[in-house]
Formats: sequence, C-alpha cells, structure tokens
Amino acid sequence: MTVLTALLTKRSSYPPFQTTIGKSVTISGIGVHSGLTVELELHPLAANMGIIFERSDLKDNAQIMAGINRVVDTRFSTTLGNSFGVTLSTVEHLMAALSAFGISNILVRVSGSEMPIMDGSAGPFMDLLQKAGIVVQEEKRQIIKIKKNVELKEERRWVCLEPADKICFDLSVDFQGREGLKPESGSYSISADVFEKDISKARSFGFYQDAQALYAAGLAKGSSLDNAVVIKEGKVMNKEGLRYQNEMVRHKILDAMGDFYLTGLLLYGKCSGHNIGHEFNNRIMKKLLGTPGAAEIVTL
Ligand SMILES: [Zn+2]
Repeated sequence: MTVLTALLTKRSSYPPFQTTIGKSVTISGIGVHSGLTVELELHPLAANMGIIFERSDLKDNAQIMAGINRVVDTRFSTTLGNSFGVTLSTVEHLMAALSAFGISNILVRVSGSEMPIMDGSAGPFMDLLQKAGIVVQEEKRQIIKIKKNVELKEERRWVCLEPADKICFDLSVDFQGREGLKPESGSYSISADVFEKDISKARSFGFYQDAQALYAAGLAKGSSLDNAVVIKEGKVMNKEGLRYQNEMVRHKILDAMGDFYLTGLLLYGKCSGHNIGHEFNNRIMKKLLGTPGAAEIVTL
C-alpha cells in the first residue's frame, strides 16, 4: 500500500497526485426507489485502485468498478452493473462529491441495490468526505483533457464538450415550458470550494404529477419532499422553498459532474448544454473517449 503523505488543505485546485480519504466513515439513509434503509461505508484505497463500489449485502460478485461502460440504466438515475448482473443505482450524487474533491481511490460499500438518497443533493456526501479527510498519495494523478469539440444534438436538447484549461459548465434547462416554469441557466468553474458553495446543496427535482404515476407503478417509494424539490402546478411544494434561485440547473451540473467522473479521472474542459440528463451525459462521454483525437489522458 502506498504511503499516505499529507492531509489536503488547499482546495482551490487539484493536486498533481492521487488522493484517497483519511479514514473510514459511514452514513445511512433510504433508497429513493425502494424506500429501504441502506448503510453506506467509505474506505480509503491504495493508489491506482480507482473507485470501487461493493454491495455489502451480497457474498459473491459484489464489486462493481466505476466506469462509463458499466452504466446499465439511466432512466431515473445512473445505475452501474457488473458482468454478473449485480447493480447499484443512484451513484451520481456521491460521484459528484468525489469529483469535486478529486478523490482518485476509494471503496464505496452499500448494503442494498441503491445508494441512500439523503436530502436529494450531494451536501451530505460532501460533509461525510470532509469528516473522512482527504489525503494526498504518492502516485501522480491523471486527467482527461478535451482536445477538440464533441457534441450531441437532438430536437430539444444538446451538449458540447470543448477544450478549456479548467473544469467548467454552462448549462440551461427550459422544462419545455411545462407548468409555466421559466428557463434556468448557470455557468460555473468547478473547484471543491465552488462545488461546496454553489452546487453541492442543489436537490433533485420532479413534478408532483409524475411522482403520482411512479408511486402507482410501485416506483419511487422513498421519494418525498425530504429528498426532492417537487413542482405542482408550476409552484414549489417544499415549505422551505428553493435553496438557490436556479437550483434545478445547478442540480443538472451536479448530476453531470457525477456521471462524467465515472471514468475516475477529472475532465478538464468546458461542458455546455441544454436539457441534458443521465443518458445524454453517458453518451457524450462515450463519444468523447471513442472519437480519435478528441481527448487525451494526461499526467498532471
Ligand atoms: Zn441528481
């Protein structure tokens, strides 16, 4: 095991070395679809081990490596699966927090088939990582650098990845005018500090009408006003209101950060887009890495 060197204190840029967490930490919460309580454990891992998920409720074939090619479902959240058919849902919010802190190596153990939803944001995961501490390891960090533009376009949505010397997002959502909601946009250069202040606490959102259909189908059993912003007839139902005026587009950035970080490497470049979601996030990353010359893996 590589010797851990020092606790990370500077958070405005990413160190040129890999990182892990300083100690094991746990938290519990309910799964948004099952409504069942699950235990989440985070453990340090040696350099070059990457991000490994493990189902602690299973004896065999319990591990699933993070990876864009391990995504098996993007309908309600991002679900990973291994070659034995073992799956784990809703990994994206923890992945966003891991991305924001640039954590390279970590073992994530969960006692069920979905991650705890917590409050629907990445805030509780960020707090958990702060409690664990972030430790710099001795091996150099690799990143993905975008070298040329890659895009996907459909009728009402598009996404473009382009070269930039930092990690930044410029996204918008328009809800296609549903229930009279106004379009939202947001533009952020990502660091751990910016994530903590501007992105991490943005919650998942959904429409009351859709939730009723999901409940009727036996889905989203754990979904409630405690873990989502819910819109009914164009109004926010949550008593406390919104956490940010453009909370929904900020959550889109959070989701994209998490989905992109399934590579285990930070993505240096700019992501612009409109009405993107998990499926689009996965497809654009596959396109980026599958297009010759579009991206380069660089040692920092
Ligand atoms: Zn989300």
